[in-house]
Amino acid sequence: MASLYGLIGYPLSHSFSPAYFHHKFAKQGIDAIYQAYPILTINDFPALLNANPSLKGLNVTIPYKEQILHYLDEMDAAAETIGAVNCIKITSDRLIGYNTDHIGFADSLRPLLRKQHTHALVLGTGGAAKAVMYALHQLGIDCKTVSRTSGDITYDNLNDEIIQSHRLIINTTPLGMYPDANQCPSLPYKAIGQGHLLYDLIYNPEETLFLKQGSEAGAAIKNGYEMLILQAEASWQIWNTTR
Ligand code: NAP
Repeated sequence: MASLYGLIGYPLSHSFSPAYFHHKFAKQGIDAIYQAYPILTINDFPALLNANPSLKGLNVTIPYKEQILHYLDEMDAAAETIGAVNCIKITSDRLIGYNTDHIGFADSLRPLLRKQHTHALVLGTGGAAKAVMYALHQLGIDCKTVSRTSGDITYDNLNDEIIQSHRLIINTTPLGMYPDANQCPSLPYKAIGQGHLLYDLIYNPEETLFLKQGSEAGAAIKNGYEMLILQAEASWQIWNTTR
C-alpha cells in the first residue's frame, strides 16, 4: 500500500508542498501519496489522525505551527527552542515534532556567507523569524530583530550606521509578497552597498522590491525558493529515518 503523507494548515489552496511531493514521487518512482488537509481549527487534528491511520508524516503550515505543539508527544531540541513545528513524524505510538525551516534557511545561506557577515538584522518577529534566528545562532552570527513594536530595534530607529554594521539583512515579513509586490520593509536602502547580503524568505515574486533595491545598491541577494525546497527535503529525510 502507498505510504501516506500530508499537509495541515488553512487555507491550503496555494500551498507549495502537495505539488512538490506529487512531482517528486512521480519522478523518483516512490509509492506514496501526499495530501492537503485544510482544517478550519486545530481541534480537528485528532479526528484527522483517526480518519487516516496510515499517515506517516505531516507538514504543518500557517496558522498551526505553534498551536500543534499541544498535540505532540515529543519534540526535537531545535523545534523546542524555536517553539514552532512544521514537520511531524508519526510512529505507531508517538507524534514527534520537528522544525525544518531552520535547516532550509541555514543550508541555503551557508554557501553565500563571507567573512563580513558576522552581524545580521532580522526583519520581523514571527514564527519564520524564530527559525531564522535559531539558524543564525547555530552559524555563529550575531543577530538583532527589527520590528514595528517588539524587537531589538524599531524601523524608526534604523540608521545608516546600523545598516552598515549589519551586512546580512533577512526579510521574514510578508511585505512584498504577491500580489502586494510594490511593498517592502522600511529601511534606509541608500546605506546598503557591496558586501551586504540581502535574503528574502519570500519566493513569489522571485525578486521582491527589497531584493531589487539591494541588488541595485550592489548587494548580493537571495530569495526563499531554495529554503522552501530544502525544508521539504529535510521533512522527507525525517519521515524516512528510523529511530
Ligand atoms: P508571521 O507570523 O505573519 O510573521 C511575520 C512578521 O512580519 C510579523 O511577526 C511582523 O513582525 C512582521 N510583519 C507582518 N506584517 C507586517 C507589515 N505590514 N509591516 C511590517 N512588518 C510586518 O509570518 P511567518 O510565518 O513568520 O512568515 C513570514 C514570511 O516568511 C511569509 O512571507 C512566509 O511565506 C515566509 N516563509 C518562507 C519560508 C520558505 O521556505 N521560503 C518558510 C517559512 C516562511 P512585527 O510585528 O514584529 O513587526
